[in-house]
Amino acid sequence: MFSGLLFCGDCHNRMYRTLKYKGRGTHFYTCATYRNDVVDRGCTTHYIDNVALEEVVLRNLREAISYVSEHEADFIRELANASAAERDRELSKSKAELAKAEHRIADLDEIIKHLYEDTLSGKLTDARFIKLSSGYEREQEELKALTDTLHRDITRREQKKTDARNFVAVTKRYTDLQELDATVLREFIERIYVYEKDKQTQTQEIQIVYNFIGAFDFTQAADQRQSKQKRDGKASVAAEP
Ligand SMILES: [Zn+2]
Repeated sequence: MFSGLLFCGDCHNRMYRTLKYKGRGTHFYTCATYRNDVVDRGCTTHYIDNVALEEVVLRNLREAISYVSEHEADFIRELANASAAERDRELSKSKAELAKAEHRIADLDEIIKHLYEDTLSGKLTDARFIKLSSGYEREQEELKALTDTLHRDITRREQKKTDARNFVAVTKRYTDLQELDATVLREFIERIYVYEKDKQTQTQEIQIVYNFIGAFDFTQAADQRQSKQKRDGKASVAAEP
């Protein structure tokens, strides 16, 4: 049921599924880079069994569903703010890069014009002109291709919206989620990244990238909410006469 959803958190290759004959679970998953490259082992195992994976994903989805049902309006607002901030950051980066490329294109126009004038006045031979100008023209072509890409990028980003409402609609279809299946997973999840086990703490991190909203951390959001409530609670108690 996890087919096509599991990726290695470190090399981003797919996770490879293998039948298990011993211990807990019926399957385990490992990084495909690790599995395929028996000589160099370009990555580490990222081993996880299906029981552990199902447990953590189910717990996570249940957390997401309960968080959204308790704080729907806040969730939609928070997500809109967060994604707008992220989008603005990316946009200003692309716009700065675009301005720089356009500036250099204009400079190159000037340089080529001067070279041409020097050729007309006899300071530069035709052969020399061709050699010098062709280098600058090539640079200009490359920059023009870059500005095209950046223009497209900027338009796409300006139109992109995360759709918290679509995600909320999915959670409403599964208010009492008890077990996972392929359909549930695909309704909620775009990708799951499995990280390598931390040998010291014996814990393994898993990141879920949801449909419509990306990698929202519901556990963190719930924790923040709780500690804020505690702070606010204390403040109001202290304010009483
Ligand atoms: Zn890997």
